[in-house]
Amino acid sequence: MSTLEIRGLTARVAATDENEEAKEILKGVDLTINSGETHAVMGPNGSGKSTLSYVIAGHPKYEVTGGTITLDGEDVLSMSVDERARAGLFLAMQYPVEVPGVSMSNFLRTAATAVRGEAPKLRHWVKEVKSAMNDLKIDPNFAERSVNEGFSGGEKKRHEILQLDLLKPKIAVLDETDSGLDVDALRVVSDGVNRYKEGENGGILLITHYTRILRYIKPDTVHVFADGRIVTSGGPELADELEEHGYERYTDEAKA
Ligand code: ADP
Ligand code: MG
Ligand code: MG
Repeated sequence: MSTLEIRGLTARVAATDENEEAKEILKGVDLTINSGETHAVMGPNGSGKSTLSYVIAGHPKYEVTGGTITLDGEDVLSMSVDERARAGLFLAMQYPVEVPGVSMSNFLRTAATAVRGEAPKLRHWVKEVKSAMNDLKIDPNFAERSVNEGFSGGEKKRHEILQLDLLKPKIAVLDETDSGLDVDALRVVSDGVNRYKEGENGGILLITHYTRILRYIKPDTVHVFADGRIVTSGGPELADELEEHGYERYTDEAKA
């Protein structure tokens, strides 16, 4: 079993010339995720949810000012982005938005090589990718297209889940995986996430603004995120309560 542990995490946007006053965004995040568990983090726009995923990913735009992140006791914050992937963290954001000239198939093989520590045998690899793409109802021509170039929102999300399938990380951070998906695509993507969940690792941090995706991916725990931290946690019923009453109660509490 693997455990991602976040304790007292504070972070801000790294200061730039235009932006000398670095802004504190994360204000003390505590969260523990074990493999096999699905944690939904829900909260209003601008509360810092994406910042949390960027900080876990090691995005250079954000500066950690306090607290810790460990994966099975190893200090994640001192790891490079690549080391984080090799340690078993999956962070969709770490991958470049568009990589012209690099086919999906090559890109995925390079990623799998980094994570597995050796290059998958080419013939096995082609089969593996084909079968995963078939499960996700991805057009076979997709494998030859350049990474993310001209991908629709739905194709980008399927690509994320394809990586999940092939790389089998210990813990996956999925930020707004539901955004821009129609109902059919949402079902295919959710099935992919659920397959990953049933696998041997399968710890999920599912960040979302809407409860819609939680009808397809059942969380074990729901956390409400407001003003840079988790303000309350509960079972799946908490998502229903949020759908009914919104975040207002929690944003008022967070400010108080
Ligand atoms: P969420 O994902 O919950 O909508 P974000 O993490 O994207 O929230 O943003 C939280 C707050 O931090 C917002 O006020 C946003 O404008 C600010 N912020 C996030 N990233 C940056 C950045 N790179 N530069 C300046 N402000 C940022
Ligand atoms: Mg947002
Ligand atoms: Mg966001």
